[in-house]
Amino acid sequence: MELFDTLAEMGHEEVVFFHSKCGLRAIVAIHNTVLGPALGGLRMWPYATEEEALTDVLRLSKGMTYKAAVAGLNLGGGKAVLIGDPAKDKSEALFRNLGRFVGSLGGRYITAEDVGTNVEDMDYIYQETDRVVGVHSVHGGSGDPSSFTAFGTLMGIKACLNKTYGHTDPGKLSFAVQGVGHVGGHLVKKLSEEGAKIFVTDMDNERVQRMVDDHGAEAVAMDDIYNVDADVFSPCALGGVINEKTLPKLKFKIVAGAANNQLDTEECGTELEKKGIVYAPDYAINAGGLMNVAIELQGYNRERAEMMVKTIYSIIGNIFRIAERDGIPSWQAADRLAEERIRSIAKTKMPYTKAFKDRLSGRKAHSTAIV
Ligand code: NAD
Repeated sequence: MELFDTLAEMGHEEVVFFHSKCGLRAIVAIHNTVLGPALGGLRMWPYATEEEALTDVLRLSKGMTYKAAVAGLNLGGGKAVLIGDPAKDKSEALFRNLGRFVGSLGGRYITAEDVGTNVEDMDYIYQETDRVVGVHSVHGGSGDPSSFTAFGTLMGIKACLNKTYGHTDPGKLSFAVQGVGHVGGHLVKKLSEEGAKIFVTDMDNERVQRMVDDHGAEAVAMDDIYNVDADVFSPCALGGVINEKTLPKLKFKIVAGAANNQLDTEECGTELEKKGIVYAPDYAINAGGLMNVAIELQGYNRERAEMMVKTIYSIIGNIFRIAERDGIPSWQAADRLAEERIRSIAKTKMPYTKAFKDRLSGRKAHSTAIV
């Protein structure tokens, strides 16, 4: 990879490589800080090569810029990757060293949980820096964000229903939910409380059975979820599920779920539009978790978090309005909304640093000697 050419093309501001004797090999990518400090999770993964880790952190950090911008947050986009196996390579020293490094970025990057990391890891980081969210509630943290992600997804689904049917009642419709883990499980519960007919699938049969027993869902085989006769398809498992193979099967009216990177390619999003299927852009509808941790920076308050997550209804509605106004697919309208917001704030050259320093001043890390 020609690194500087790639950074110029993708628009990154800064990429930092961290190494320490305890085995830490981490990369932090700060994509854009026009709206505020870059916030994005720490992913721990046994990447086969360093280039693979770099590619991932560049892609993910750019995605966070768009997500925060569309969510209306005063945050930029960043991400960190830690090379290692979460099942074998975790230690207190690893995360505390990483915390020191994150602290050394002077507040330009704030980390959080992601694939392969959890609250305990964030608590180690918090011993060295307050530039971390998703810490335990005893430190003012907000805990597991998945119920907020599910709540935001439900709000986004309602915006899709409003556009398609002129009402927001899931109880009148049927849903096919792919993946009933943390987010999908909460979503099925919420949909069933609203009286919806729900089909579920997951590679984990126990999770499927729980949805059948607890929420009256109907189980379907993994490959059959695309053919189900339902109104709404809600991907809550993997990325890339809207692709050349699945597109011809889809007869849903709406695709609206929490999974990241649902479109295999942008063309697949355009193809959905051509088929007359309403698509809620993934990074906009699944921003509830990010909104929830963002509230931590101002002193966590659950009610305020819920109020903010509710705005996903109007955010998705706004994306549909831009799509109609400009005659473009919804995935492109979401990108346009994010880019327009960043451009307009960039013109005003408002410094964010002081406001965020003030907000963070109430949360002091317990700095102790490095292990
Ligand atoms: P999770 O690991 O708890 O749940 C994912 C579920 O999908 C698991 O039960 C898994 O068995 C199932 N699954 C995997 N492959 C499958 C397949 N081929 N078919 C059917 N099921 C399959 O993860 P999660 O936290 O619930 O996140 C779900 C999705 O939402 C991910 O794409 C994640 O990136 C995205 N997301 C999550 C959050 C959050 O707050 N957790 C926030 C934003 C986005």
